[in-house]
Amino acid sequence: MYLKGLTLKGFKSFASATSLNFEPGITAIVGPNGSGKSNVVDALAWVMGEQGAKSLRGAKMEDVIFAGTSGRAPLGRAEVSLTIDNTDGVLPIDYTEVTISRTLFRSGGSEYAINGHAARLLDVQELLSDTGMGREMHVIVGQGQLDQILQATPEARRGFIEEAAGVLKHRRRKDKAVRKLESTQANLARLTDLIAEIR
Ligand code: ATP
Repeated sequence: MYLKGLTLKGFKSFASATSLNFEPGITAIVGPNGSGKSNVVDALAWVMGEQGAKSLRGAKMEDVIFAGTSGRAPLGRAEVSLTIDNTDGVLPIDYTEVTISRTLFRSGGSEYAINGHAARLLDVQELLSDTGMGREMHVIVGQGQLDQILQATPEARRGFIEEAAGVLKHRRRKDKAVRKLESTQANLARLTDLIAEIR
């Protein structure tokens, strides 16, 4: 599995549709200060479901929509599509190429799609959760974030590793199953009491 392509349209400084193609291995993005290198990384996090405006270096989510320049009017929507090569079948979906898309309208509406079919944020999160590209996004290490990881407590560091390894999803599912088991046991105890009363 590797990232194959990214298309941005109306996302931050990328007003016109811009497509980037990646090859397997290392890709370096170079450019002058303020040219939009970090915006490309923000787009990656955003299309994978990032919900925090601050993580995207904005105050509110609407800030990801092209806000206009002296020569160009603001746009009404931001769209990002990420294409992932899945020939090795790491993503649990029956396609060798998977395209995840996210659109945000200035009016507030938001949409996700997987291979052109409307999807929910949860579907995108589930699709990516065993790949290390999950909800907490530790797969993207931003400027200054390395210090945060180095200075984290052992428990927090374990959380980073668990998220990257895809263990966190199973821990959440286990916690949910334990809660369900406890409530079933409480119901069972109540039933036993009722049966004893009836007898
Ligand atoms: P550096 O090397 O300094 O880290 P960079 O290449 O990573 O810079 P970015 O931070 O990606 O640059 O891009 C910053 C530019 O994006 C700024 O010029 C900013 O005005 C522009 N920008 C950010 N959000 C928007 C938006 N919503 N609409 C238009 N332009 C935006």
